[in-house]
Amino acid sequence: MRIGVLTSGGDAPGMNAAIRAVVLQAARRGVEVIGIRRGYEGLLAGEFCPLGPADVRDIIGKGGTFLKCTRSPRFRTEAGLEEAHSRLQKEGIEALVVIGGDGSFRGAARLAALGIQVVGIPGTIDNDIPGTETTIGFDTAVSVVVETIDRIKDTATSLVTAEPRVFVVEVMGRDLGAIAAYSGLASGADWTIIPEVPCDLGTMCSSIERSQYSVILVAEGAGGALAVAQEIKARVGIEPRVSILGHLQRGGVPTPADRVLATRLGVAAVDFLLTGGSGKYMGIVRGEVQAIDFPAEGVKKDTDLGLYWLAMHFASAGRPEHTLTYCLNVPA
Ligand code: ADP
Repeated sequence: MRIGVLTSGGDAPGMNAAIRAVVLQAARRGVEVIGIRRGYEGLLAGEFCPLGPADVRDIIGKGGTFLKCTRSPRFRTEAGLEEAHSRLQKEGIEALVVIGGDGSFRGAARLAALGIQVVGIPGTIDNDIPGTETTIGFDTAVSVVVETIDRIKDTATSLVTAEPRVFVVEVMGRDLGAIAAYSGLASGADWTIIPEVPCDLGTMCSSIERSQYSVILVAEGAGGALAVAQEIKARVGIEPRVSILGHLQRGGVPTPADRVLATRLGVAAVDFLLTGGSGKYMGIVRGEVQAIDFPAEGVKKDTDLGLYWLAMHFASAGRPEHTLTYCLNVPA
């Protein structure tokens, strides 16, 4: 058997560890692996490279993906899909591992429907794939955010000024506040603003005025840091310091947790294919690796709002000037 492996969509730290696990597990099972560069675009262009254990020897700790990834509008068309199918057949690739996000999984599901054996591995910092508890890259992205907020807090808590100091940090998450909620809890940020929960800026601003410092974490999908900073300036006349973390969250050395996750999922993906499995992705359910159906179009993952509310409650606990009425619909 010949297995193809590609990384697709946005890159995420830990993708290399997943490729490595696929290659090493396949070698262990006596199966050949063909790397496909530049995701679906490279598949259409025939960018194939055989991969053996020596090729993946030193990649477990490297961020990004050495196979490169890209977005491929051509692959989305019926003609593109057909072309991809025949490319795989010509190359003798009977089974394909797709490491990517929900868009890549939609493409993978369509290839599976054409009769190619396909398995997905969730690689995205956003943790936005329905079904799995976590995705490769999320832990690394959260680590970057938490480290940044720890640093900002060092200066926030040390330098005492006549005026309150306000720091607004923007993190990724266009539709989902997963990175913000998780990082807000882990960093003890004073305020966390996510797209899923409306924020009462008026109450937040009155608390800001009464605090020596405030660190505010905002997901990009909740308006972004610049808009929040502008609003604060307009309401209380304080100029917040803005940090937009952007691509810093995407790069860097994957955390041990992401490396281990990627390895577990990569191993399971190969075994799934070798037992005839197809049309699913490997995810984590209650801590265990499981084969999960590719999400149906339009199905979105829910952020764990329990974590978000815990972050909010604990942030307010040590600060009498805080009030949890800052957000609408506060659960008890
Ligand atoms: P991610 O996988 O990170 O969510 P994208 O949404 O950009 O990233 O998807 C990556 C690639 O997957 C797209 O460039 C396209 O080639 C393919 N893709 C996305 N959606 C579909 C779809 N509905 N049908 C076929 N291919 C798709």
